[in-house]
Amino acid sequence: MLDPASTYSFDDTASFAKASEEKVGAGYVYTRWANPTIDAFEAAVADLEGAEEAEAFASGMAAISTTFLSACSSGDRIVAARQLYGGTFAILTQTLPRYGIEATLVDVADHAGIEAALDGASLLYCETIGNPRIEVANLPVLGKLAAAAGVPFVVDNTFASPVLCRPIEHGADVVIHSATKFLGGHHDLIGGVVCGSPPFLDKMRELARELGAVLSPFNAWLALRGIATIQLRVERSSAGAAKIARVLDEHAGIDGVFYPTLAGGSGADLAARLLGGHGGGTLAFDVAGGRERTARFQEALRVIMRAASLGGTHSLIVHAASVTHTQLTDAELDEAGISEGFCRLSVGLEDHDDLIADLLQALEASA
Ligand code: PLP
Repeated sequence: MLDPASTYSFDDTASFAKASEEKVGAGYVYTRWANPTIDAFEAAVADLEGAEEAEAFASGMAAISTTFLSACSSGDRIVAARQLYGGTFAILTQTLPRYGIEATLVDVADHAGIEAALDGASLLYCETIGNPRIEVANLPVLGKLAAAAGVPFVVDNTFASPVLCRPIEHGADVVIHSATKFLGGHHDLIGGVVCGSPPFLDKMRELARELGAVLSPFNAWLALRGIATIQLRVERSSAGAAKIARVLDEHAGIDGVFYPTLAGGSGADLAARLLGGHGGGTLAFDVAGGRERTARFQEALRVIMRAASLGGTHSLIVHAASVTHTQLTDAELDEAGISEGFCRLSVGLEDHDDLIADLLQALEASA
């Protein structure tokens, strides 16, 4: 049911006053505080993630920034995996330090480094499948380190989606999504959501209402429609990504492919244990021949679109250094393993063979 109202009327002033004092619970008052369509979306995502509660946001970045701001105060420090979405990297390294909140970034596989960094820290943060090199985090190990340090473990589960992984079952306290991606699934909404339990979520919800970056009811309704097909979509795009990764891995025009189930080592093992043996719908690869050849390759694509985002109906490709990770300096790009030819491909719902044919013809045309 779509209820787009921004406000609700009351028959008498006493019940209006009571509902306003409680904000939620005694009926709906004002949509920045609560709305039935947004509530339905939150309940659906909490259920998918196995969480007690969820709170929806206007975007993934609104969910992430509100989480950091509610959990940390000036003088606090966040420990985060270095493999992050560019926007998250920017808020941790540039914006939060202006408010006295520092970040220590450590390689997601450096468990000893993370354990050491957690001493005196306030929060541990990572992505289930790290952006952009598609590395799987060892959530059970990181969860134990966070628990031993007595800090909340917050996981961005956008790339995996709850179809492949439910981080709370592996030690996470809080799970975040850019609902713009797999939850919505059709490239037609911007949204975010945080799943967890009280008191963490209560505190965050208070701040969310003050900051006001709430999801619109219409976007909540669109996201609910997307969730109805999430399992079919994730399974199909993950199967397509795995097939494409295998083909590109053999191609002379590609210097390297990054995809969990390809790697013989820890990636495949972690994908087996945490992602049900799938690798997710996103892969990355290095086009041989540098930035100019990569631009020619991308411009020769006819089915796959040059567009930001992931997790939707259409296959989208980005050049990481010039689109998703522009916030990083050259040295930081190097450290994150993002080369001049580094492309991220989000596989949609098209025919897998059409996508492979498109990639092969573009590699040939750009050689
Ligand atoms: N987290 C991840 C892993 C992302 O890839 C993105 C965006 O691409 C975000 C968060 C931010 O989400 P939004 O664009 O909905 O703010």
